[in-house]
Amino acid sequence: MNAPAPIDVKAATRAFLAQTEEHMNAYLEACVHCGQCSEACHFHKASGDPRHTPAYKLFPIAKAQRAQKWPLKWLGLAPAITEKDLAEWEELIFDTCTMCGRCTEVCPMAIDIASIVGQARKAFVAAGLGPADLLQAAENSRDHGSPLGLTPEKLVDRVEWLADDDEVDMPLDKERAEVLLTVSSIEAMKYPQSLSAMAKILNHAGVDWTFSTTGYEATNFGYLSGKADIAKVMIQRILDAAEKTGAKTVVIPECGHAYGVLRWGAANIIGRPLPFEVLHITEYMAKLKRAGKLKLKPYDTPMTYHDPCQISRRGGATEDARYLLDGFATHFTEMAPTGAHNWCCGGGGGVQAMSRAAPLRHKVFQIKIDQVAATGTDTLVSACANCRLTFDESKTALHWEGKLESIVEIIADHLVED
Ligand code: SF4
Ligand code: SF4
Repeated sequence: MNAPAPIDVKAATRAFLAQTEEHMNAYLEACVHCGQCSEACHFHKASGDPRHTPAYKLFPIAKAQRAQKWPLKWLGLAPAITEKDLAEWEELIFDTCTMCGRCTEVCPMAIDIASIVGQARKAFVAAGLGPADLLQAAENSRDHGSPLGLTPEKLVDRVEWLADDDEVDMPLDKERAEVLLTVSSIEAMKYPQSLSAMAKILNHAGVDWTFSTTGYEATNFGYLSGKADIAKVMIQRILDAAEKTGAKTVVIPECGHAYGVLRWGAANIIGRPLPFEVLHITEYMAKLKRAGKLKLKPYDTPMTYHDPCQISRRGGATEDARYLLDGFATHFTEMAPTGAHNWCCGGGGGVQAMSRAAPLRHKVFQIKIDQVAATGTDTLVSACANCRLTFDESKTALHWEGKLESIVEIIADHLVED
């Protein structure tokens, strides 16, 4: 862990406390300390460190709340919050929680630790704290359009290059379109073929769609970093672009948290219902398949499928990927556990963007390697560019020989044109 910069602990604590909402109390009071969540968390499983148990991640908010209770304050018994506390909490709530929700599944009290961690992150940022690289990614999104340098000009450049290279029509800034297709800058900068793959599939199905240079970035590092103002800006850009084109559907690319934020959080964040449907690209492809608009030749590589947490467990869209693989992936073996119970990749919730968290992420990947090995295959297919990047990086660190594929790219490669 990096040495914390000198901070005004009292001011930071006041700002932190001001953001810890009262409704969190119910969750904090509800924990019966049964320890069932400890085995559900990939960080605890990989490290064995008791500080990585989910219940321990409630500790910052619980201690902050205790410090506010007036009888304790009055009696001088309220716990003092120290600079050391703040440094330890920062590691707990940013580096060791991907907000995957797996712990909530086993908690007898249904405590939503992911949302408490999200709230604690907001409080941290309000106190002027938080990991520099994650906060920088959020600011890049606000100031330059994306966390990874995908400015509108770069998007135009990339789309023109891909359209030319892959010989695919990639409409940009059409005045009117039924579908607004968004991108993840992780894909655009690291896996650009994902963009042309989505375009090929939508064109194959005859969809009236467009990219937009004013509302393209689906990832939301404002949300992940706890910067609520930036979270809102990123949602508003997509909302404005969709309204301008009259899109009835906004399609989220292979990105888990982008789906969670826009599908489940955006209306609350902007304070009104969204005037369009939000579908993850796997949901949209499944919709095309149901309508008979997706004609595929078989994909016969032995493979297994990794469920991104924010799409399956937190998002509820588990079955669409199976529906797509059914009859297409002829050698598909489910890993165990799978679906909503799958192990997280270790890089969600912005953890992938934090360089200091890399050693722990790599340990978590060993869980995935073991899961894949147990299926007897060595190809892992998924639907989230962040999972893919986490796996790619960890694969190199752990010298794993297996292969990683994107479900969008394998489908695009197996389209049968009339
Ligand atoms: S939400 Fe996921 S990463 Fe966070 S504590 Fe729970 S199981 Fe661990
Ligand atoms: S499973 Fe729930 S009640 Fe039990 S220790 Fe974990 S958070 Fe507390």
